[in-house]
Amino acid sequence: MKIEKIEPFIFQYELEDSFYFSQWEYKARTICLVKVTADDGTYGWGEGYGPASLVKGGIEFLTPDLLGRDPQQPEALWQTMFLRSFDFARRGVLLSAVSAIDVALWDLKGKLWNQPVSVLLGGRKRETVQAYATGMYFSHVDDLPSALADEALTYKEEGFRAMKMKVGLGVENDVANIKAVRDAVGPDVDVMIDANHAFSLREAVQLAQAIEQYTISWFEEPLSPEHYDGYAELRSKTDIPIAGGECEYLRSGFFHLFRNKSVDIAQPDICAAGGLTEVKKIADLAEVFGIEVVFHTFGSGIALAAALQLLSNVNVVPGRRLEPNLLVELDRTTNPLRERMVVPHYKLQGDTIEIPDAPGLGVDIDEDEFRKYVCK
Ligand code: MG
Repeated sequence: MKIEKIEPFIFQYELEDSFYFSQWEYKARTICLVKVTADDGTYGWGEGYGPASLVKGGIEFLTPDLLGRDPQQPEALWQTMFLRSFDFARRGVLLSAVSAIDVALWDLKGKLWNQPVSVLLGGRKRETVQAYATGMYFSHVDDLPSALADEALTYKEEGFRAMKMKVGLGVENDVANIKAVRDAVGPDVDVMIDANHAFSLREAVQLAQAIEQYTISWFEEPLSPEHYDGYAELRSKTDIPIAGGECEYLRSGFFHLFRNKSVDIAQPDICAAGGLTEVKKIADLAEVFGIEVVFHTFGSGIALAAALQLLSNVNVVPGRRLEPNLLVELDRTTNPLRERMVVPHYKLQGDTIEIPDAPGLGVDIDEDEFRKYVCK
């Protein structure tokens, strides 16, 4: 069996209402997916996180070394891609291209072997996980705290027991927004905050201390991902668990994060940090260090499906008879590339999400939706 075609596609959905966070404003949702096809016609889909045109370029760069190779050997092909990229990109978007192809290879192999990816990764340890709602971005409204509180209540009413909001507008504004959300949802909902590395250490300590009274389940990316020691220092100054890692890559990057005691919760993105092959190893490494893993997932339904397959397989830290709920990140912002383009649609009951058990990732791309959003 041979790889016959590797085709990257860019999909875009123009948003009616833009939204923003501490760094950038989103006016559209754009994503690069890759379809890898074997010589018998079997195909798999993968996704790369990051600037879609660059991910596409990365996939085109890697393709010549993969055509003609056996698609049933993702780890061997991963090593080829890794060595091909290593001299130019020890971190960054070329690894998103590696990740995209890796995810597609696992999907393809699952379809060939008639098994879900979770089984091929070593076996299913759970059939469902708890989704947490990612939302509560910033928008151009007059009364942002009230708008965020209303949005939080919607998630609670939908059945979400955990939700994540953005911070990074300055300590005073952030405290007002957090108070509004906590007052709206009451004490029984887990609330997480995400700064997208907006703060200095001094500001992050100030915010953390000001909001401890609101019971925050984690403080995500408080500081620049380059400030490994700053993360460790922040951890020593607050009881709020510190999360990070969506801008980190590869085992070696996460090893640095773990050895520096930078985070309580690691958040590798399967579609950026190295694909299913590498992120399984990152999860194993986290287990060695006793660090929780909650994958960063923000893109199409392919990224979500890949996260669900690996979540079925990873070990929970700590292991015990009654295991704590594993979480999957479920972005709630408007995005048909997540909600409509991938079929079957994910199944939520309250906030419990089923892990597909069909072959491969357990999902496919809807042809009509593909045509609607693909960039020509
Ligand atoms: Mg984040």
